[in-house]
Amino acid sequence: MSSVLTHCPYCALQCATTLHPVARPGAVEVRPAGRGGLCRKGWTAPDVLTVPDRLTTPLIRNAAGELVETSWDTALDFVASRIQSLQDTHGRDAVAVFGGGGLTNEKAYALGKFARVALKTANVDYNGRFCMSSAAAATNRAFGIDRGLPFPLADLGGAGAILLVGSNIAETMPPAVAQLQGARDAGGLLVVDPRLSATAGLTADDGGIHLQATPGTDLALVLALTHVVLQEGLADTAYLAERVDDPDLLIRSTASWWPERAERVTGVPAATIRRAARVLAAAAPVHGGAGAFILTGRGAEQHSKGTDTVTACINLALALGLPGRLGSGYGCITGQGNGQGGREHGQKADQLPGYRSISDPAARAHLMRVWGVEDLPGPGKSAVELINSLGQPDGPKALMVHGSNLLVSAPNLASVRERLASLELLVVTDVVPSETALLADVVFPVTQWAEEDGTMTSLEGRVLRRRTAVAPPGEVRSDLAVFAGLAERLGSKGFSTDPAEVFEELRRASAGGRADYSGITWERLDAGEELFWPVPHEGHPGTPRLFADGFPTPDGRARVVAVDHRPVADDLNAESPLYLVTGRLLQHYQSGAQTRRVPELAEAEPEVFAELHPRVAAQLGIGDGRPVRLRTARGSMVLPARVTTDVRPDTVFVPFHFGGVEAVNELTNDVLDPVSGMPEFKACAVEVTAAVLP
Ligand code: SF4
Repeated sequence: MSSVLTHCPYCALQCATTLHPVARPGAVEVRPAGRGGLCRKGWTAPDVLTVPDRLTTPLIRNAAGELVETSWDTALDFVASRIQSLQDTHGRDAVAVFGGGGLTNEKAYALGKFARVALKTANVDYNGRFCMSSAAAATNRAFGIDRGLPFPLADLGGAGAILLVGSNIAETMPPAVAQLQGARDAGGLLVVDPRLSATAGLTADDGGIHLQATPGTDLALVLALTHVVLQEGLADTAYLAERVDDPDLLIRSTASWWPERAERVTGVPAATIRRAARVLAAAAPVHGGAGAFILTGRGAEQHSKGTDTVTACINLALALGLPGRLGSGYGCITGQGNGQGGREHGQKADQLPGYRSISDPAARAHLMRVWGVEDLPGPGKSAVELINSLGQPDGPKALMVHGSNLLVSAPNLASVRERLASLELLVVTDVVPSETALLADVVFPVTQWAEEDGTMTSLEGRVLRRRTAVAPPGEVRSDLAVFAGLAERLGSKGFSTDPAEVFEELRRASAGGRADYSGITWERLDAGEELFWPVPHEGHPGTPRLFADGFPTPDGRARVVAVDHRPVADDLNAESPLYLVTGRLLQHYQSGAQTRRVPELAEAEPEVFAELHPRVAAQLGIGDGRPVRLRTARGSMVLPARVTTDVRPDTVFVPFHFGGVEAVNELTNDVLDPVSGMPEFKACAVEVTAAVLP
């Protein structure tokens, strides 16, 4: 086979790569192919294709409780008969489906259709709830649409200032750092992070500003930045008058957030807040600047007030007249590889393909026509609500998990483990025996990036082709084969295993929706066209930039939502006086199921650790590398300390990529954002003590 042009399996940057065959079966070499670049994860991605414990045959749990090999037919027959029996006894909603933001668009679409058409269950949601759901909720209510970046990533390159709120792109998507260069050269890189992350560290070299706020106070900080912009006459008043529905509400909602008040809440000096606001404003078009962007990441979003924090960022962007202006804007740095596409095609409990609301009668009627059904279930429960209902008297008795490793990535893992164990049937599809797969009754081995065709949608809404470079090993098949095989056994027709056919159907299903793919064809993508949705017909060139002529709201104006600061849900107290913050490392991706198996990455970051400030370490008598015990209201764990001034004295940082006894989500709080359903991963109260390793 000759070289194949495709994209990296990991993050939402979706760097272009060429894969070259090598002599070893199933193996390839990777090279960068233009757009993006490759970070260490991308360079080593081929190793995941040939990991020693790759799943290659279906597994089923036997009477002795062991997972043993079986055939596809036996596994599919067993799952179909258990689903039938459970639904006959307990009703359609007795079966739930959980998807993932790394699935291709075709798999994500087929998953939602399978749940609603073959299973007829309302219980479907996905791990994007843990990712960017707060930004999605905030942009939908402000702009009437959610596309992570409503402009090409390359637009960032010319900006004079960029405010990054809770995003560590220097570690999560290193090639994107090149797009910060214009702002860095102008001294306009502004980073909000309680930790001196690799990205925050860039500010030191270039005269930028690191706003090292107390965890859980980003919202107060952004309200104060907006207050300064409005009070110092730096706002774009013409833009506010023409393009925003209620400028007075925006002004009133920030009036009491003078910087000295914000300093008391955030710990960021008032003078620094004023300076940051002025730097950002100076780059805005209204002041003749080169352009300004405000970008949020998980640090802002993974809170019980994440939607409101993003809303505050949007309000600041509106005050400065940024959204819809060439070279300026607000955007969300989506994380998962198909985090954008994964939220457009119907995996979400409240959503149908084309990014339509499941509560909209017209949207339901359209999908019923496309799918040839008389009714649709839903809306259902959001991810954590769904997990918490598993095995309960009126909750689902069976769960199918696709592309998600819940036993690492969900909050409050003791509760998740208990809920999964209470199920009568757990089915997992995966590439490797992940922590969640090892708990399953049936495991289906499925294809991964270089073994499959399909489409992915980058964080900018750019639709890209994924192409097959190597044959999958053993009995491995696509998730599409799981949906088609089960649907057939359950008496439901219309489920294809051909990704091109599924994409054709997805195009029809999305037609007329907010994420309209109807003008995107396999042929256009293969001819090298770079198509940003919406693409409403085949002659349409795509839409790289949104909002130039207005917002897709009833009156064409952006909607202001008044928001205010509120504390972290967990109470800090004498016993648990510090904040626990979780986050990401350069070497690992999401739950680490793939990257922990790549030798080079595992050697570089082999185990979990806790970053502690030297002052805390000294008070507790903990040396660098020594064991500490972290305890929260959910659980406790022992892990080695890294003593560093990179964290605030009131903060402990732990990466979340590790499983088993190293999984920090044993400690995190599953309290939810009331709008988005996002759990509060990013801040909870923790007790830290010296410990002895077991
Ligand atoms: Fe590019 Fe992200 Fe892959 Fe790194 S992980 S190579 S930044 S797509």
